[in-house]
Amino acid sequence: TLSVASAANIGSTGASTSPTNVAVTPPKKSPNDYIFGKYIGEGSFSNVYLAVDVNTKREYAIKVCEKRHIIREDKQEYVRREREALHMMTNVPGFVNLSCTFQDRRSLYFVMTYAKNGDLLPYINKVGSFDVDCTRHYVAELVLACEQMHYRNVVHRDLKPENILLDEDMHTLIADFGSAKIFKPEECINPVKPAPFSLGRRSGRNSQNRSDDDDDEDDDTEDTNDTCSDDDNAPGGRGGLYYYRGRKGSFVGTAQYVSPEVLRNGFVSPAADLWALGCIVYQMISGLPPFRGSNDYVIFREILSGDLDFPQGFDKDAEDLVRQLLKIRPEERLGSQDAKGSYVSIRAHPFFNGIDFATIRQQTPPPIY
Ligand code: ATP
Repeated sequence: TLSVASAANIGSTGASTSPTNVAVTPPKKSPNDYIFGKYIGEGSFSNVYLAVDVNTKREYAIKVCEKRHIIREDKQEYVRREREALHMMTNVPGFVNLSCTFQDRRSLYFVMTYAKNGDLLPYINKVGSFDVDCTRHYVAELVLACEQMHYRNVVHRDLKPENILLDEDMHTLIADFGSAKIFKPEECINPVKPAPFSLGRRSGRNSQNRSDDDDDEDDDTEDTNDTCSDDDNAPGGRGGLYYYRGRKGSFVGTAQYVSPEVLRNGFVSPAADLWALGCIVYQMISGLPPFRGSNDYVIFREILSGDLDFPQGFDKDAEDLVRQLLKIRPEERLGSQDAKGSYVSIRAHPFFNGIDFATIRQQTPPPIY
């Protein structure tokens, strides 16, 4: 069990140990510090519960990951990555806050903001589709979230309605960073010419793909050693021009939202999240994601085909935004050439006319219907 704890680096609360701050390290929490309440749901390696801090009476969502299960499934890297990315996004508006982590003999615990209103998917499914005002508001919040993640060199890689949670005021909180790629300078490579069209090996039925989540261990070292210029990584440098090459013929994420370049070559850049954003805009307005099929293979073919069908009545500005986000070539995707920290070209798209990005998270979201 020690190996899980160290591989996932779960033992610490993440509190700063800088010399000026040593005295404020809070005492280690344990399950006894919380009263566990209703069961919220399960993930591939976890169960999530509503819990109340016995001292502060504050509510949290606690994700409990059984160590035995993580080891059996060899998912130490997944858990470590989720913790690291959550930690990086903590206290950033629009993200689930990781309050602390701790462990006991059996389990690892992630204490997180409780998103009272669940995830976005049931809302889309219930109303069938969002009206344009509502879509505009929620997409604007997601643009801000992408700016924040990509500024910190975090690519989520699994943006989809199930991973967009809603707080008590119906503002979005991005969750589930188990698939995230956190770029380090030495892992960045310059854009590489796309390989010829290839679907790789056949995959199973529609599914979320976690099987390649240890692609960070790059066994495919060819082409991965070049580093970006400093500018590409520095805050304020070019936003989209850093790429990471994972394993060929594999992907991390969910079939319906995976970008063509990830499918083709395993190239990951922030533009992969912009592609997913385009899929989500389409889904909010039409009720279904743009690329569908009875199994992953069919979905992948759709994604790589470059064909996009819009149902009648699809808002014209929204359609244009989706088309700009769903460009096959990542470097042509709207926002991919913007400086890090602000997707100015996305913000300036006519679909967002009337949106005040500076105050959007303080506004009351339009009702969902
Ligand atoms: P996987 O682990 O395979 O990615 P998942 O994202 O569904 O799947 P979890 O993150 O463990 O797995 O989440 C399980 C359930 O708990 C989901 O229904 C999710 O919406 C819900 N959930 C997760 N985090 C929170 C939270 N902070 N607040 C409220 N609900 C949450």
